[in-house]
Amino acid sequence: MSLREQLCEYGRRAVELGLVIGTSGNLSVREGELVAVTPSGVALDRLTPEMCPVVDVEGHLVEGELQPSSETPMHLAVYESTDARAIVHTHSVFGTVVATTMTELPPVHYNALLLGGTVKVAAYATYGTPELAANVRAAMEGKRAALMANHGGVTIGATLEEAFESTRLLEWLCEVYVRGLSVGKPTILTDEQLNAVIERALNPPTFPPRL
Ligand SMILES: [Zn+2]
Repeated sequence: MSLREQLCEYGRRAVELGLVIGTSGNLSVREGELVAVTPSGVALDRLTPEMCPVVDVEGHLVEGELQPSSETPMHLAVYESTDARAIVHTHSVFGTVVATTMTELPPVHYNALLLGGTVKVAAYATYGTPELAANVRAAMEGKRAALMANHGGVTIGATLEEAFESTRLLEWLCEVYVRGLSVGKPTILTDEQLNAVIERALNPPTFPPRL
């Protein structure tokens, strides 16, 4: 699948799963010095490959008729400061709830390790601005995900599939935490408990064959 076809595929899935509504949310995928990104003002389930602009890593339009997403500066800032090859940004409900009420998403489940543990909430700035791009870049340091205050969430991956799955995981973790808060006081995993998970994952148990 071409980069632009991937944007259409995962754009459709983002809408189907209710991670975005209207024309909100944007995705990008990088190959070398080029980045294919979703266009501004088009619902993610209405995309065709030709609609998706291609920019270089400095933000110059290389291909396409439509304007790149207004969050393209944020995508480019994250590409510049991480090893990301794909980025997904949505306004998913529980992610936005956490980003509106808290300064971080603590690790309430060990799967948070897949995103780098605690997920930080980037300080608020107007959408599409270099300030927001800088805030997200800072919050993303050493992580695979960040939340954006009063806005939404963003995840990175080695592929668009990976970045998309991280967005689903981020939303799930936020939902577990928010629902947990409505029932009681969620327990936060300690560094020791998280380190034990990493240890376990690095040394999986072996099951000898029955003789
Ligand atoms: Zn947004």
